[in-house]
Amino acid sequence: MLQIDVLTLFPELVESFFATALIGQARERGLLELRAHDLREWTEDRHRTVDDAPYGGGPGMLMKPEPLVAAIEQLAGPKGPDREVRVILMSPQGKLLTQDGLGGLAARSRLLLVCGRYEGVDQRVIELAVDEELSLGDYVLCGGEIPAMAVVEGVARLVPGVLGNPESAREESFGGGILEGPQYTRPPEFRGLWVPEVLRSGDHAAIASFRAEKARELTRQRRPDLLGPLAGNESKTREAARGPRRRRNGEREQ
Ligand code: SAM
Repeated sequence: MLQIDVLTLFPELVESFFATALIGQARERGLLELRAHDLREWTEDRHRTVDDAPYGGGPGMLMKPEPLVAAIEQLAGPKGPDREVRVILMSPQGKLLTQDGLGGLAARSRLLLVCGRYEGVDQRVIELAVDEELSLGDYVLCGGEIPAMAVVEGVARLVPGVLGNPESAREESFGGGILEGPQYTRPPEFRGLWVPEVLRSGDHAAIASFRAEKARELTRQRRPDLLGPLAGNESKTREAARGPRRRRNGEREQ
C-alpha cells in the first residue's frame, strides 16, 4: 500500500484534507496510508522555533535546518541510495508537476512531502535530506501545504481502486498526452444549446472518433506544445502560407 507522509507546520489543515471526499474514502478503505506530522515536534527549545533570519539580510524568515533535517531523517531515514522513502520538497524552484510525474510517484511505495513556509528553507536541508523538489506552477504560494495536497490527490487518483472507474484516469486530459474535449450531460437542450447529435446517436465508433477529433482540436488551440514539434510546424506552415501580416501603420511584420 502506498504511504504518504506530509511534514508541515499546519498538520490540522492537511489532516482535514485527508479526511475528506475521495481521499478520506480511500484512506478508510485501506487503499492509502496518509499521515500529517507537525514539524514543531522536532524542535528542542521552549518556543518550538522553526525559523530564523537569513544570512546576508533580506525580507522575511527562513526555515531552520535542525528541526527539518531531524524530522526527515526520523520519518524517512538518512539520504542515500538505500533510502526507500522518496523525500520531496514542495518548492517554486522545483521541477514542474505533471501527470507523467504523478504516475512515477504513484509507482513508489513511500513518499514524504515536505512543506516550506516563510521565505523557504535553508539550502543545507535540500542538500542533506531532500531527493527532489517539485513545483505546482510558476507562481508563489504562502506554503507547501496546497502543493502537497495536490500531489496527494493527483497520486491517489492513480492508485488502483481509488477511482470508481479506472477508465476515468486514462481518458482524462493528459492521459493520452492531450487535453480532453468538451463533455455534456442531460438535458439534451439547455438555453438553446444542443448536445451534439453524434453523442446522442448510440454509435460508439462515431462517438469515439468525434471525441478524439474534438480533443485534438482543443489541444491544438490551447496547448499546441502537447502535440509536439509537428504541431508547431503545422501552424508555422499555415502562417507562412498566409504571407506576411501588416501592422496598423502598414509596415510588414518581420
Ligand atoms: N522565497 C521562495 C522563492 O522565491 O522561491 C518562495 C517561498 S514560498 C513564500 C514558501 C513556501 O511555499 C515554499 O518553501 C514552498 O514550500 C511553498 N510554495 C510556494 N509556491 C510554491 C509552488 N509554486 N510550488 C510548490 N511549492 C510552493
